[in-house]
Amino acid sequence: MEQLKTINALRECLAVKTKAEIKIALVPTMGNLHKGHLALVKKAQSLADYVVVSIFVNPTQFVVGEDFENYPRTLERDLDYLRHLNVDLVFIPNILEIYPDNVQITTEVIVPELDAIYCGEYRPGHFKGVATVVCKLFNIIQPDIAVFGEKDYQQLLVIRSLVKNLNLPIRIYSVPTFRETDGLAVSSRNKYLSLSERQTAPLLFKAIIDVADSIKRGESDYENLEKNSISSLMTAGFRPEYFSICDSRTLKKPVNQELVIMASAWLGKARLIDNITL
Ligand code: AMP
Repeated sequence: MEQLKTINALRECLAVKTKAEIKIALVPTMGNLHKGHLALVKKAQSLADYVVVSIFVNPTQFVVGEDFENYPRTLERDLDYLRHLNVDLVFIPNILEIYPDNVQITTEVIVPELDAIYCGEYRPGHFKGVATVVCKLFNIIQPDIAVFGEKDYQQLLVIRSLVKNLNLPIRIYSVPTFRETDGLAVSSRNKYLSLSERQTAPLLFKAIIDVADSIKRGESDYENLEKNSISSLMTAGFRPEYFSICDSRTLKKPVNQELVIMASAWLGKARLIDNITL
């Protein structure tokens, strides 16, 4: 497995593959790899001949006061996982490699219609940071395909939108959320949960499933479903940010039955997000 830290070395390595018309897939991550990430890698391997995984904790997608400094960094363990999966190349750039000028004054990419709603409302600037770094990684690696998780549903729509709007020749694939056996979506931030919070955490997914079941049974008062879910989460000890039933393509008010139920809630020091599409 190649491990490269610089754009020059990476481009040199990938030029050979491109010349040989080898299909390249990219799986962007922030490291601290878990089974969700590994599912993305396997999907990438099923779709392409050569798989690049990037590990970069991107400072611009952390809002002031968030956990950038303390975000779990477990590079050696991550590399072991990727070696076992026979990943072809791991790109591990430092901040200056990705942001050659000051991080504060870099050129930025914004997907306006999705930037400031839901997670974007509570994490202002987050999606600008995501869109910018993903665009940079796309420019650096020039993959044929890229794979993202449905767990970060709004992020997935941001990426799809930027690829379409910037006319990038990259196909985006998604992978369903990988869950613990009790339903909790696997996430690097789950380690911020205390033991008792960890017992409570699956209730977020359960609340989403309950709403999905009600909708399937014919319930159409979405506002009421949202309100009731928020209050039951609060009763269970969550601090919900949003719980919303919306159009799965636009995240706007639903116009038909193509829905996504999305929620974000704090539990202790962990901010949990989850969703399901109907
Ligand atoms: P992160 O390292 O958290 O930035 O995530 C990197 C990629 O892994 C993103 O495309 C995420 O959506 C995806 N991902 C994170 N957690 C999961 C999960 N539980 N199941 C599937 N994909 C995930």
